[in-house]
Amino acid sequence: MTDKKLEMKITLLGDMAVGKTSLRKKYISDYFSDEYLITVGFDVSIKTFTYEDSQIDLQIWDLGGQYTFSNVRPLYYRGSAGAIIVYDVTNPESYNNVKFWLEELFQSIKNKNISLMLVANKVDLREDSPQDNKYITKDDGEKLAKEIQLYVKQYNADIPVMFFETSAKSGQNVATAFDSFIKQIYQKNKPFF
Ligand code: GDP
Ligand code: MG
Repeated sequence: MTDKKLEMKITLLGDMAVGKTSLRKKYISDYFSDEYLITVGFDVSIKTFTYEDSQIDLQIWDLGGQYTFSNVRPLYYRGSAGAIIVYDVTNPESYNNVKFWLEELFQSIKNKNISLMLVANKVDLREDSPQDNKYITKDDGEKLAKEIQLYVKQYNADIPVMFFETSAKSGQNVATAFDSFIKQIYQKNKPFF
């Protein structure tokens, strides 16, 4: 056992139906459902594990993307060590809206020193129809991650923005993305506990 403890809150952001809840569930319990449940309010998954010589109490917060609940979102963002912004590669609008989520996040939080990860989800659908060029490519995603990086620089938050392409359906890259992100947050917060 260890007495070093780190509470880590990670929030999921992004348009409705991009796969936030599916990614969370896939990571936490390796479970995938094809049904679609609209998230009302907050949903939190909790996982406790040991990393290096520390105990990490991980909380993954998940919120419905409904604009009608925008009044509660600042509360939702508060205290986040990291934020994951998700878009759906088959839905260009969700890609364009990433900047909306980013701005809302930064307007809502006091401590701008937050870790960020951009996730392009549903890549299984893009792979199923490679001839379909209306889908968002990996290059598009990398370009957006760089733009996010520039955006956070103005707040003096010089944290590398991570980018992964995932499928919550096949599980592709889901654990890699979350694990890498958690590791980055851990390294950043380690000096303080
Ligand atoms: P949320 O509103 O962002 O939480 O999205 P959900 O996780 O509820 O997912 C919305 C819909 O997309 C559901 O029908 C899921 O089964 C489906 N979905 C989520 N992730 C994937 C994926 O990676 N691939 C495919 N094909 N479908 C997905
Ligand atoms: Mg959801």
